[in-house]
Amino acid sequence: MKKVIRDNYRVEITPDPWRSGLSHDQMRGLLADLEKGVKRHVDGVDGVTQRWDTREECSHCGYAWETLSATDVKNPKFLPDEHSVEGEPVCCEAGINEFRAERGIPALAETGGA
Ligand SMILES: [Zn+2]
Repeated sequence: MKKVIRDNYRVEITPDPWRSGLSHDQMRGLLADLEKGVKRHVDGVDGVTQRWDTREECSHCGYAWETLSATDVKNPKFLPDEHSVEGEPVCCEAGINEFRAERGIPALAETGGA
């Protein structure tokens, strides 16, 4: 018979969302301040742990950071042109050209629009 177990009880404290524009170091400082405040003023606390989520995104377009795999580069229909290599971002022209410039790979050809 299935039995429901409840454990790992905890309270999560979310910092003021208006501070989301702060740098990572500034946010860690804010979390440290909250941690000190909880330890100083709250009874029944065993520990306070700082946690955050991490994601990678393109600095040019803001989409999730995805790159061509070794398998992708073997299939030309997935590639913007013949110069694509493993690790090249797939999100936008600026991201691709920045990656290529850092490695001496020719930039994407100008498409000229419709
Ligand atoms: Zn991009």
